[in-house]
Amino acid sequence: MNDRDPLQFVKPAVRQIAAYALAARQAPVKINQNENPYDLPEALKRRVLESALRRPWSRYPDFDSRELLDKLAAFSGWRPDGILAGNGSNELIEALLMVTVGAGTRVVIPEPTFTLYALLTTVLGGEAVRVPLTPDLQYDADAIASARRRVGAALTVVCSPNNPTGGVLATAEVRRLCEEEGGLVVIDEAYHEFAGESMVPLLETHPNLVVLRTFSKAMGLAGLRVGYLLSSPALVREINKGRLPYNLNFFSQMAALAALDGFAELADRVRQLAEERERMLALVGDLPGVRAHPSRANFFLIELEEADPKAVFEALYRRGVLVRDVTAYPMLSRCLRISVGSPEENDAFLHALGSALGEARGSVAVGRA
Ligand code: PMP
Repeated sequence: MNDRDPLQFVKPAVRQIAAYALAARQAPVKINQNENPYDLPEALKRRVLESALRRPWSRYPDFDSRELLDKLAAFSGWRPDGILAGNGSNELIEALLMVTVGAGTRVVIPEPTFTLYALLTTVLGGEAVRVPLTPDLQYDADAIASARRRVGAALTVVCSPNNPTGGVLATAEVRRLCEEEGGLVVIDEAYHEFAGESMVPLLETHPNLVVLRTFSKAMGLAGLRVGYLLSSPALVREINKGRLPYNLNFFSQMAALAALDGFAELADRVRQLAEERERMLALVGDLPGVRAHPSRANFFLIELEEADPKAVFEALYRRGVLVRDVTAYPMLSRCLRISVGSPEENDAFLHALGSALGEARGSVAVGRA
């Protein structure tokens, strides 16, 4: 090795992993990132712009988003000193792992799931202990419980609903994990509004539970990066040490406050999206050669029994529909992930899928001839 190679100073565990990356494609029907198809209502946006105009931009934002924390406490039914706000829930995942994971720390992570947890665990020198989902892509609660006992886990992370499979871990199972010995239990509720259930009520009795939430999905604020973490005040005080000062800019704080004020309207849209999900699952499930996996989130997996998923992905893209290719995830080599869009976007997807499958079947037939 060249002794002036700057990469020699990077931790070997980091050199070995791939970055969290997403090919930045655009399309008329963009249903690849689990975003909300509905923008924040115009009236709420204007209110945010007006309060931003009145505020001096030369001054730092509120140090720890105090007003937002108070509103989040009222909104979520948990105490304000048990909440942290972050620049997306991603930032709070990082803060949480920074203060808990060091060399050799074991973190139990079901797989496939949101990849950031294993990535950051590895960057920090810890060990991601992966527990496969069941063959029908549900959580295996017994396997998770026994893995954390076996390896002496410091943390167990469960995204519920899970990204990218859409399954949930039942409340009774989360309670059981919290009650058994085995470290912190982290429940990522990025998509909980679409499932209609939350583990926040368990916080009162389980100080080892951490719940993460985001404004990027149901709340329609992905572009402004706001997330929050809820846990026992003593644990929150420690996690706060891993949070950067002034992490949330004033504009995002204002937008999050406005979204909370306008929640009734946003909640209507969430209901519509959940209905659309069920409509799409039924229609997609009727297509020959396609298995639609049930989901409690604003996305679902389709499994292509015959057609090549990468070919279908590209055929959809040529028809103006961008979905997520998840074939590189363990267990999902035949799957694409579809985010639920507006009814018009969903119809465009369904139409494009029918003809994309026809094209893929045609090419298989030609290939065999
Ligand atoms: N958790 C899960 C399970 C996710 O799918 C995502 C978004 N892809 C996030 C957290 C991060 O969300 P954000 O940083 O936008 O709040």
